[in-house]
Amino acid sequence: MNKHKIFIANWKMNFFPDDVHDYFNVLTHILNEKEIYDKALYIGFAIPFPYLYESRSFLDKSVKVDYRVETGAQDCSAFQHPGAYTGEISAQMIKSCRADFVIIGHSERRKYLNENSAILKEKIQRAQEANLKVIYCIGENDAERKNHKHFEIVEKQLQEVLPEIKFKSDSLIIAYEPVWAIGTGNNASPNQVSEMFDFIQHVLTEKKIVTDLKDIPILYGGSANSTNAPELYAIRNVGGFLIGSASLKPHEFKNIILGCLKSSFT
Ligand code: PEP
Repeated sequence: MNKHKIFIANWKMNFFPDDVHDYFNVLTHILNEKEIYDKALYIGFAIPFPYLYESRSFLDKSVKVDYRVETGAQDCSAFQHPGAYTGEISAQMIKSCRADFVIIGHSERRKYLNENSAILKEKIQRAQEANLKVIYCIGENDAERKNHKHFEIVEKQLQEVLPEIKFKSDSLIIAYEPVWAIGTGNNASPNQVSEMFDFIQHVLTEKKIVTDLKDIPILYGGSANSTNAPELYAIRNVGGFLIGSASLKPHEFKNIILGCLKSSFT
């Protein structure tokens, strides 16, 4: 299996319109310089809803590379489109903004918006119906890790949500994001990543959780940056990164990608 090369920037609730413009101006310049180059690269931006459509148009006009540079949302509604659901944004609306993917199950939404497995399953169904690729986030919290429950929790998050969903090809990415590592500056160690990624791969392949897809990329997320990413990227089964705060700075985002592509660890 060729190694995946997936780098997703999760902007979360950051930026005003002018910032988006500035960000993409710098970023498109960086990409067009072609210092970062690999045909198998897949770079994605998980963008706040109000900026989705315009971001895609901007990238279409300005990025001249022949690998995938895609946009996506950070969540979608569990409800079917259309309907009387004030404030909700459907997967189909996201698709109509020419987005390619949606993040579902981020730990911040599980925590602050009480998103549980039943809701996440619905959201993934809606995303599949709308032809959006899903980046499904899983990961244990600090107490669960300290109580040695991390494998159990991760398996549960996979088992409770994925098995009954009919996936279209190339439409699922898993992001392992230990909650204690997100936004803390305290990334998971290479050993922790290695054993967890082997475990997730084992669960996915041996327990037949997703039968329609063979090769499901698995990303790491949690305080990834240009210093720690190359070593983590070299670990078996690590297919790339979901990056929060470090992705808000285009040059740091570039250095993460470049560092991984040129990693002396691989
Ligand atoms: C995230 O929230 O998806 C994330 C990985 O954040 P950070 O990189 O800031 O830890």
